[in-house]
Order: sequence, then C-alpha cells, then structure tokens
Amino acid sequence: MSKIQMVDLKGQYSKIKTEVDQAINEVIESTAFIKGPAVHRFQESLEKYLGAKHVIPCGNGTDALQIAMMALGLKPGDEVITASFTFIATAEVIALLGLTPVLVEVDPDTFNIDPESIRKAITPKTKAIIPVHLFGQCSDMEEVMEIAQEHDLFVIEDACQAIGADYTFEDGRKQKAGTIADIGCTSFFPSKNLGCYGDGGAIFTNDDELAKQCRVISNHGMQIRYYHDMIGVNSRLDSIQAAVLDIKLKHLDEYAKARNKAAEYYDRAFKDHPKLKIPTRFEKSTHVFHQYTLVVKDIERDALRAYLQENDIPAMIYYPVPLHLQKAYLDPRYKDGDFPVTEKLSKSVISLPMHTELDENQLSLITTTLLKFLDNE
Ligand SMILES: *Cc1c(COP(=O)(O)O)cnc(C)c1O
Repeated sequence: MSKIQMVDLKGQYSKIKTEVDQAINEVIESTAFIKGPAVHRFQESLEKYLGAKHVIPCGNGTDALQIAMMALGLKPGDEVITASFTFIATAEVIALLGLTPVLVEVDPDTFNIDPESIRKAITPKTKAIIPVHLFGQCSDMEEVMEIAQEHDLFVIEDACQAIGADYTFEDGRKQKAGTIADIGCTSFFPSKNLGCYGDGGAIFTNDDELAKQCRVISNHGMQIRYYHDMIGVNSRLDSIQAAVLDIKLKHLDEYAKARNKAAEYYDRAFKDHPKLKIPTRFEKSTHVFHQYTLVVKDIERDALRAYLQENDIPAMIYYPVPLHLQKAYLDPRYKDGDFPVTEKLSKSVISLPMHTELDENQLSLITTTLLKFLDNE
C-alpha cells in the first residue's frame, strides 16, 4: 500500500501525465508565459463549466478576494461581515484594505456562516457579506442573498474550497458555488479541488461592469497600456498554470465523485460511534469534500491526532484558532467566549486524508486505526 497522505498530488498527476506534460511543453515552446492563449482557453472552459458570464483569472484566491472588494468600491471604515471559523485570507484582505471585518458565528452542523448572526451584525456601516463555503459545501446562499437584498449589501462568495458544488434554490433552480452572489472567488492552490502546479485563482461574476473593473484592477488599473485610470494590483494566472487547469477541469466532476466515495466510506465506518460526528450534508448543496472533517466528543483530540500520526496516518486541524483569537486580529470588540460554536469547533474538529486517489485499503487502515484508538480510550 502506498503511503497515506492528506493530499496525493503525485498519484493524481500520474494519471494525466501525458496530457499535462504536453500542455506545459506547448506553453514553453510558445514562450507566451503571461496572458497567452492558454489563459483565455481556460477562462472560457471555466465560464462554460460554471455557467458564469465572466471568469477573471488572477494570481491566487487571496488576490481574488482583494480584487473583488476593490471592484465593489469598498472604502476604509466600511464593515464587511464574514464567518469567524475560516481560513485567514478572508479577514486578511478586509483588514489590508482598511475595511472593518465584522465576524459572525457559524452553524454547528454545516460549519458555514449563520444567517441569523448576520442579521444581528448589520449596522449602518455594513457594506458587504462574505460567506465562505467551508470544506466543500455552499453556505445558505438563498438566505444570505435575501438579507443582502433587504439591506442593500454586496455579497462576495469565498468559493475557494467549493468549486463545482451545486446550490439548489427553493424553486429548484441550481447554480454553481461562486456564481450566485455579485462576485465569487476561488483558489487553484495545488491542494484545492481544482489545483494547479503553483499559485492561481479566479473571480466569477455575471455583471459586465464588475467584470471589467476586476480585469482592470488585476492588471495595474490599466485598460490602455501605460495609462492607469485607477490604483490596481499585479495579479495574473500564468499560462503554464492555465494549461494544467484546463486539463484538470475536464476531470473535476469525476474528482468530486472520488472524494464523495471516500467520504461515504468514512461515514459508514464512523456514523454510529457515539464519540464521532460525521460531516452533516446541507440539504441545499452538494458536497465536494475539500475536507472530510469529523467533530469529536469526549476525546482528547490532540491525542487522537498523535496516535494517527504514529501509525503513519496524517490528520489536520482546520482551524485550530478562530479569527477573533488570532494574535494579529485581536480587537477590543471581541473576546474569548464571544463565538461559542466557533470556539468549540476549533477545539473538536479533525480532518482526515481526503483526495482523489484514496483506495479501499488505505480507507480501511485509516478507519480501523481511528476506531482502535477510540476502543482504547
Ligand atoms: C485557500 C483559501 C483561500 C486563499 O487562497 P490562496 O490561493 O491560497 O490565496 C481563501 N479562502 C479560503 C476559504 C481558502 O480555503
């Protein structure tokens, strides 16, 4: 059996190696490294896959979020509501732009932003909401969009972990994660569900004007070369990454299936154990399992992780410290105890190996090892 990894990029690459190597070589031969035809091709493929009017490729997911906020014209002092339980990038760019991050609680079952908490956090200064589709399933977008409409707020979806997930509205309409709000953002970091071989990201929007703003901002605020109409940034997806992504996009749905298959294996093994809570499936979204995250009860979580590690099974804690308790983000508005759901999750979640190449032998070893630890507790 091959070594168990959190993410097996090598195994995945070996199955598409011929195609990928050829595509990379074509870019090298063409020397069109920046803004080459491969970027445009991938942009069009992704627009088609998502059913989005515009995809604007950029340097990474963090940049995508920053460019989105700049394109919406958010100004220092504006309040932006986001989830307290997420990766730091979301709050980081809010802070970098001089905006005020307003953190709210998440749902204990789906780990996604809690709409009731959003309502309570709205003030006259609130300008935008950023729901994060954590671990691979969509936030309650219909609720979030309703709140935004009532209060005239922008919505930016952080879809960095959920590309390909489908959200179903009350009326049966389905839309892809990231294409529902004013702007959606994603990351092509290698370990993401659609990962490239370096850094990459993209912005999605159905609004022509916002798309234009995002394009101009991501290219030094420049429409005509060397004429700068606004302050921008330099954030591009390079051609080699785009060529890799265009190939991997064709496999994205099949990758999601492989991840779901592994998740179902884990579910079967763990669902009846009183000390484990398997991931809740949100009825309005499909799950693309960026992570398979258990919540443990009455267990020394760190001892479990150490035991798995001793048995050559990696496990990760996403995320050990909620945003409001991160040193760089300490703020007199918040204190320990303000977000009990988030704080409890950060102490009790554990993510197991999740990728497209897990086989039954590996899954069997992971599940039996974990259950053995619980038996000895
Ligand atoms: C990965 C990630 C980002 C940032 O993406 P990068 O490409 O690493 O900059 C932002 N938000 C969430 C939720 C992520 O998982």
